[in-house]
Formats: sequence, C-alpha cells, structure tokens
Amino acid sequence: MILFFLPLWLMSQSENVDLGMMYKIKQEGLKNSSIEDLAFWFTDFAGPRLTGSTGGNKANELAKKKMEELGFQNVRIEAAKDFSRGGWDNLKTYAAMTAPYYSNFACNPVAWTGSTNGLIKGEVILLDVKAESDLDKYKGKLSGKIVLIPSTNTYEVNFEPLATRYTDEQLKELAMAPSPSQGRRQNVDFTAMMAQRALRTKMSEFVKSEGASVILNSSGTYNVPGSSGGNYKTGDKEPISALNLPLEDHGRIERLLKHNIVVEMEVEIQNRFFDSPTVYNVIGEIPGTDKLLKNEIVLLGAHIDSWHGGTGAADNASGCIVMMEALRILKNLDIAPRRTIRVALWGGEEQGFYGSSGYVEKYLVDPKTNEHKPDYNNFAAYFNMDYGSGKYRGVYMQENELVRPIFEEWLKPFADMGASTLTIRNATGTDHLTFDRAGLPGFQFVQDDIEYERTYHTTMDTYERLVIADLKQNAVITAAFAYNAAMRNSKLPGKPVMKPRANAGQNQRPQ
Ligand SMILES: [Zn+2]
Repeated sequence: MILFFLPLWLMSQSENVDLGMMYKIKQEGLKNSSIEDLAFWFTDFAGPRLTGSTGGNKANELAKKKMEELGFQNVRIEAAKDFSRGGWDNLKTYAAMTAPYYSNFACNPVAWTGSTNGLIKGEVILLDVKAESDLDKYKGKLSGKIVLIPSTNTYEVNFEPLATRYTDEQLKELAMAPSPSQGRRQNVDFTAMMAQRALRTKMSEFVKSEGASVILNSSGTYNVPGSSGGNYKTGDKEPISALNLPLEDHGRIERLLKHNIVVEMEVEIQNRFFDSPTVYNVIGEIPGTDKLLKNEIVLLGAHIDSWHGGTGAADNASGCIVMMEALRILKNLDIAPRRTIRVALWGGEEQGFYGSSGYVEKYLVDPKTNEHKPDYNNFAAYFNMDYGSGKYRGVYMQENELVRPIFEEWLKPFADMGASTLTIRNATGTDHLTFDRAGLPGFQFVQDDIEYERTYHTTMDTYERLVIADLKQNAVITAAFAYNAAMRNSKLPGKPVMKPRANAGQNQRPQ
C-alpha cells in the first residue's frame, strides 16, 4: 500500500473527517429532526423576546427547560451584563384615522417609550424639522396633538424576488472576493446616524414638553410596521409615546396634511416600565471526555432576544433552534466528544451584543486590563447563526486564512447540499464579532437570503418566515462542525497576532 510510505508529517496535516459520523449526523438531523417542534416553542409559544421584557425573561426559562428535556448538561441561565434600559412591556396598541374617514392601522410601538393617557383623540400635525432651530415655529401649537414625523424613505417599486438563493456565479464571486472587504452588509454612515438620532431625541423631548400626545414614525420599506427602540435609560423621565406605522399609512397621512386636509386619529398605547437590570445567557453542553482536552470549549451560539414586533422567528429564533438541534443531534448519537461542546443563547444582541460580550468578559478577556483569563487558552472555536432562515452555503472565514484547509475538508460531505463556499470576507453585525475582536476563532455561516432583508425587525418576522428544510440542513452542518472541532487534535487556529491598527471595529450594526 502506497499510503504506508507517506511521510508522517504529511498525514498529520490532512484533516481527518469521520465520514461514518457525518452519515449518522445527516441521518439523525434529516430524518429525526426536532426543528419543527422547536420552531413552534421558540416563536408562537414564546412570542416576542425584547431584551429585558417579560417575554424575554420567560423565553430564557423556556430555553433552559428545553435544554434539560434534550438531555444537555450543566444547563443554566447565567447573568451576562448590566442592562441600563431596564424592562419594558407593551400591553396595548391601537391606532386609527377617524377623519377625513375611518381607517385602522397596523402599527408597532417604539420600545422604551411611554403610554397615552387612555384612548386619546386628536388632530395630526406634520412636524417638519431638519435642524433643532426648526422646532421654534411649533412652540405653543402642539398641545393635545398627534405629531407626524415626515418620512425619510421614498417608496420604490421593487422588481426583485422576496426570497433568493445564491447562484453558482454569486458563490464563485464570494469565494474569490478580496480581503478585507466586508461580508453581506452595506457600509453605514455612523456619524450621520448619530446626529439624526440626537435630533430625534431633541424632537421628542420638545414635543413632549409642548404637551403633544403621540409621535408617529414611518417604518419599513413595505406595508409592514418595523420595530425600533428609544434612547431611554433607567431613571430617565418616561418618554412620550411613539408609534411606528407602515410606510403606506404614514405616507397617506403625510400627503393628506400637505394638501391641508385635516386628519384626526384615535390612539391608545399602554406600556409598562419595570426593573430588569440584567441581560442573561442560556447555556447547556455536552461535556468533553478527553482527560487533557475536556476543559476546551467548542461554542455554538445565536441570540435569543428579538424585537417586539412579530415573534423574532428568522431573527433569531431560527439561529437558537439550529444550535439547540445541532447539540440534540450529537447528544442522540451518544458521542463522547474530546472537548466540551457548549450551546449559548445570547441575550441583548439587538442592543449591542450584551450577552456575548458579557460571556467574553466573564470567561475570556478582562474588560479593564484586556488580559486573557485562564479559559482563553481553552477556547477552541465559535460558530454563530444570525442571517435568517436561509440554508448554509459556506462560511465567512473572517480573514482567517489558516482555517481554509480545515473547513474545506469539513464542508466536503455537504457539497451536495450546496454548502461548499469559503470566503475570506468578514461577516458583520452579529455575535461572532465579540469573539473575533478578542482574537479568537469565531465564524458566521454564509446563508441564502430568505425574505430576510424585508422582514427582520418587523411585525412580519413570524413562524411563516422559517424554512424548515433549510434549518434542518443548518443544524446538520453545525453539528458536523461542532463534532469536528471537538475531535481534532488541536484547537482551530486563530489569526496570527499583528500590531494594533487604527480604525478597527467599525460598522457593527446588530442583526
Ligand atoms: Zn439577529
């Protein structure tokens, strides 16, 4: 046999994938899947899971219970970080136009804003403010009024399909894309965004001090109200109540007002602020069995918090379900991993990676001194899912060229599922960045865009957005990656350390 004459160093360089185990993972994940069951519990049953809300805290309990039922070990809800915004629940929302004719509106209250004084009725005023000085002309004119903020979006007919899959050509482009340009997210002008945000805070303070009742915003690009949150911090005065209307309803009111037609509305919003000062993560694992490697951690993660419209199905119940199912598959196959395989469902991602950064600060890197904690050297790999319900098509290598030969071998058994693309590009906007920034190997998968751009962070992000077959595939590939990472002789290589560079870490909008 010619193999006998291969030099040992060459053999140790090749990545050993246990094809028997890959077969078992596929069988278990595709034929005995729990994805559909988990999807129900984490969307319809759990409901919206805004950070710090009653729903969010209940979902943590549900996740813990499910992890225990699935036989994960060391299951716990763990404090991650302080949360300055505190708890907020929406208890009631109703909005309708009553003049010039009756029309009720789908709408979503802005999180961490206040309530109306019961059912209020009033005239709608268009507040045309581009700079703080424009506010003066509205002095004394807003008492009891409903204030419409003009839209910054213009509706454009879209000829693109709602859901798309990567074509072979697009995947090839992604695979050949140069480093270090970023992944699938567009650049955001953060300075302009911050200035706009500051003006919006001034506007709502002014409008409240003038005695107005409600602020109406336009949201989304289609007939769906989006979710967003105000700049509230615990201890602040309760902000004026604010509603996000669909672009169409908002546009109709704006055009009526610009034609000097009197518009009246009735609105009732009931919100509750309460103490909820901590963001939590929910954690469970299959302990490692190798005497030397069992303290090393292969981490799978997704954020469990959502916005309050819809049920946060694609963003990001889908990721939670996939990570839970990946560990269930491995658990049911009775594997004895050399390293520990841990699932973490992060809280507070949408407000800025609270859960994952809390984890890093607790176990891996001291936030004050930047010194590595003892577990840092036991950190083997992190895999994240947060780009909606679309199936995996490969992995963003996050500029880590060292993992290419490893991931190439790991993906080979999944070529027939369309998941073989490796791109040197960075994926942005989600929790793997917390680990990447700490110098640890953290990755997000390349995913097809299934109705994601139009629906995430809106009331339309519900069970219907989930593509169960895609999620099954993702759980299978995640389980395979977790298994391989837990069994190989060494941890995944991190990026070699370079001298610190300026301007690192821009463009981190949570997904
Ligand atoms: Zn997300």
